[in-house]
Amino acid sequence: MNIPDELIQALQQTARVTVMTGAGISQESGIPTFRDAMEGLWAKYDPAELATPEAFERDPERVTRWYDERRMKCLSARPNAGHHALARMESAFQDRGDYFVLITQNIDGLHRSAGSRDVIELHGSIRRWRCVACNRARDEDGGLFETYPPRCECGGMRRPDVVWFGEFLPEAAVRRATAASLSCNLFLSVGTSGVVYPAADLLNTAKVAGAKIVEVNPEPTPASAFADWMLPGRAGDVLPKLAEITERKRM
Ligand SMILES: [Zn+2]
Repeated sequence: MNIPDELIQALQQTARVTVMTGAGISQESGIPTFRDAMEGLWAKYDPAELATPEAFERDPERVTRWYDERRMKCLSARPNAGHHALARMESAFQDRGDYFVLITQNIDGLHRSAGSRDVIELHGSIRRWRCVACNRARDEDGGLFETYPPRCECGGMRRPDVVWFGEFLPEAAVRRATAASLSCNLFLSVGTSGVVYPAADLLNTAKVAGAKIVEVNPEPTPASAFADWMLPGRAGDVLPKLAEITERKRM
């Protein structure tokens, strides 16, 4: 695949880059989408029975067990070349004093595993669990919980710190993501169709503010119509090329 000269220039000269990733980059690491994960014992449930505040209230045992099993899958998954490339780009941009912001819709924590230092997690993280009583949150990197729902020292029930259907996105994350979309001059949309809130809003915000839009996806999406450059392919194949171009500038 050829990277257009104009994009190469933009990557080497643009001081402000914002990247937004979605399920596609995680799928390349073997993380199933929410619906694909509803297999085996879980196939009989509706998403509303597993991923809503009401479901947690009705059956906290079932909901936390479901998330804990998915947490194990995320912990055993390995970041792929796409995740690593974005961590390299973050370093390259920061080394030259430029601005780089990574926004993700994924909850698996793979960007952090790959070494990205600053990640805006719009939908929270399945690795972080918080108490519904006292709100204390901490990362859980060990094996399955012994009982469900897991309990806080205060006795309260703990839940995954992810956004459920019908819940608001974390306000601080949305604010930072919006600011990053407004102020960038290159916006990369990776592995997401970009049509659902908040992805669509962020992409549109960047576009209206005058940023060049780059899309990285195996197939065209509705967002492709907004893209200045559509780079067809998997994140794991395309992003390392972009990272290499970015790093070449340092030499
Ligand atoms: Zn507590």
